[in-house]
Amino acid sequence: MDSLTTSLVRSSFKSVGASPGGENAFARAFYAVLFASNPEIRQHFPAAMDDQRDRLMHAIGYVIDQLDTPGEVLPLLAQLGRDHRKYGVTDDHYNAVADALITALANLTGTELWTDETERAWRDAIALIVATMTDAANAEQGPPTWVGTVINHHRVLDDLAIVRLQLDQTMPYVPGQYVSVQVPTRPRMWRYLSFATPPRPDRIVEFHVRRVSGGWVSPAITTDTRIGDTWLIGSPLGGLGVSRRPGRRRLMIAEGTGIAPLRAQLLDMPRLDDTPRTHVFVGGTYPCDLYDLDILWGLSRTCPWLTVVPVIENSDNPWWVSGNTQNPAGMHDLLTGQLGRVVATYGDWTDHDIQVVGSPSMVRATKYQLMAAGVDSADICHDPLY
Ligand SMILES: Cc1cc2nc3c(=O)[nH]c(=O)nc-3n(C[C@H](O)[C@H](O)[C@H](O)COP(=O)(O)OP(=O)(O)OC[C@H]3O[C@@H](n4cnc5c(N)ncnc54)[C@H](O)[C@@H]3O)c2cc1C
Repeated sequence: MDSLTTSLVRSSFKSVGASPGGENAFARAFYAVLFASNPEIRQHFPAAMDDQRDRLMHAIGYVIDQLDTPGEVLPLLAQLGRDHRKYGVTDDHYNAVADALITALANLTGTELWTDETERAWRDAIALIVATMTDAANAEQGPPTWVGTVINHHRVLDDLAIVRLQLDQTMPYVPGQYVSVQVPTRPRMWRYLSFATPPRPDRIVEFHVRRVSGGWVSPAITTDTRIGDTWLIGSPLGGLGVSRRPGRRRLMIAEGTGIAPLRAQLLDMPRLDDTPRTHVFVGGTYPCDLYDLDILWGLSRTCPWLTVVPVIENSDNPWWVSGNTQNPAGMHDLLTGQLGRVVATYGDWTDHDIQVVGSPSMVRATKYQLMAAGVDSADICHDPLY
């Protein structure tokens, strides 16, 4: 897309954000137009739309930010197109969404900004997005969804569960990728989860889920999951670890359940011909948050290319945590401090392929600290922050 189109799209979207009610008003207007003109689409969305509106705005904002780096955004849109097959979307649905977007934008952008040229720019951008998504969806041979049957559910912490499922069919995912899942107690509330294990011949997959206080889905997964439950799982998404450059050393940084997609890659790396030297920093608020340290430590003892460094913000567990929470004997000392700062000051990370996984605020903070320490932002990879 040319730079004029990109800048018209960006400036008009910015003006929508600055209008009364801002982005929320735009998201409300969009869904109102969409559901009024195509009532049958409503059934695909959850009853409560607040989070859905947030997600829509984050997704649009992300795509608009990346419009001038098609190498980044087009593969992601193609993956989203494949994933959207789970809703049974048709070309008519895509057209309805495009029309509702244009109507909502035209209504909320001031008349001075919403010119024929701006409308044309948006139509071009939307046409590119829709074509990328539908082409990828139409080319896909695999099923629109997989069914996973829960075979194990283990609460490793009060607010964190490890769930294992057996898929009904083989899923060709790459370690480091994530999927959207729908659990039986929360219909139509799809949430992203990262695979914690590489693909296995027995089709068993593992997810690590932390309960978000006040959340809709994560408390249901951590507390109410039962053996035999069946989850619906969409197509694999994301590019963490997909295109690493051969011969480059790796730095992996994870907070909380962010260790899942890194661990999936680590478990897969011993089968590589040329395993890169890899440092993993795993962080938490308290020592007890490092729930997966035994597995990582076991791996690092058998893999000379791997160093695992645990980092915590508070050296003592909270008083309500009981039981043995010591570091595994012989492991790298626990370092104390803010994760990004500890990593950035630990060594020279230039010439490394870097992956950062955690909450959006942690990813942003860590990225800035690494860049301040001389790392090129192009060497830092993370999942989309939506
Ligand atoms: C690429 C990707 C991979 C992910 N992988 C995992 C994973 O492997 N394991 C895992 O547990 N989660 C993972 N998540 C997060 C997960 O998708 C859900 O967002 C999370 O479980 C909360 O869902 P919920 O329905 O409970 O909360 P919601 O009902 O969606 O949100 C409730 C409130 O909590 C806030 N909120 C949402 N998520 C968080 C959070 N993480 N921290 C603090 N506040 C939050 C929301 O803004 C909202 O205000 C991943 C997210 C992405 C984007």
